[in-house]
Amino acid sequence: CVRRLSAIQLHSSPYFSPLTSFPYTFGHENIGRIAVAGSAAGDWRQGERVIVEPTLWCTPRGFKDLCRYCKCGEINRCERIAEGAVSPGVMTGYCRDTGGSWSEYFLAHKSQLYKVPDHVSDENGLMVEPFAVGVHAALNNFPGDDEAVLLIGVGTIGLCTLAALRALGSKSEISVLARHPFQAEAAHKLGASRIISAGHGDDYYAEIAEITGAKLLKPILGKRLVLGGFDRVFECVGSDRSLDDSLRFTRNGGKVVLVGVPGISKDVDWSAIFASELEVIFSIG
Ligand SMILES: [Zn+2]
Repeated sequence: CVRRLSAIQLHSSPYFSPLTSFPYTFGHENIGRIAVAGSAAGDWRQGERVIVEPTLWCTPRGFKDLCRYCKCGEINRCERIAEGAVSPGVMTGYCRDTGGSWSEYFLAHKSQLYKVPDHVSDENGLMVEPFAVGVHAALNNFPGDDEAVLLIGVGTIGLCTLAALRALGSKSEISVLARHPFQAEAAHKLGASRIISAGHGDDYYAEIAEITGAKLLKPILGKRLVLGGFDRVFECVGSDRSLDDSLRFTRNGGKVVLVGVPGISKDVDWSAIFASELEVIFSIG
């Protein structure tokens, strides 16, 4: 997950610090076996192969009365992530009491456990959490079949979002902006309609203008303005360059879905949101 790399490289926003308790062990993608089952673990037994849903929502925190979001099953919106029996932490891997999946053992509440069927490999089991991020983004922002869709960035989250859109039955034309050939190949296998190369020296602005029939205009300074563009853009990187591009590549009145993890942006020009009346939606799953 890019958030851990950002934390190691000190690029993370301090915004999350009150929602974190130090010292903690990284890691929320996970699969393993129950090493010890506590006295209140119910039917769960030592040795069972499980995935831990990492969100530390009301129930793992010991609350019997659920917050307004947890009541509806929207545990990713829980308002009590800094309260209760467990130290602050949005999820396992950001909390000093639970530990994280980068260590050999970590703690989980029974409400967080999902049994893994034998036919699911460890590798696929580990991908459940990032794939869930893609499913959440796709379900909440499902494109119509006649929409022209652009997906920016095909790292793990971008590929999972693409796979989720196709698995959920999307027939829309999905163009994918890929920086590296191995990412392009993976995106092709997962159902991309078209790959646009964003490698060094590639003029992907010109290619996007050609695909969408948009016009490119040159301001007196800075990046080009795209008049026209895609109906819906999924931004799956979170960098300033990619965020800025996502706003420029969306047509007037179009939708931008931000799936990548942003921070403090210094080089994102908000003019496109204003000028194009864009609908900008964040997705955290
Ligand atoms: Zn809650």
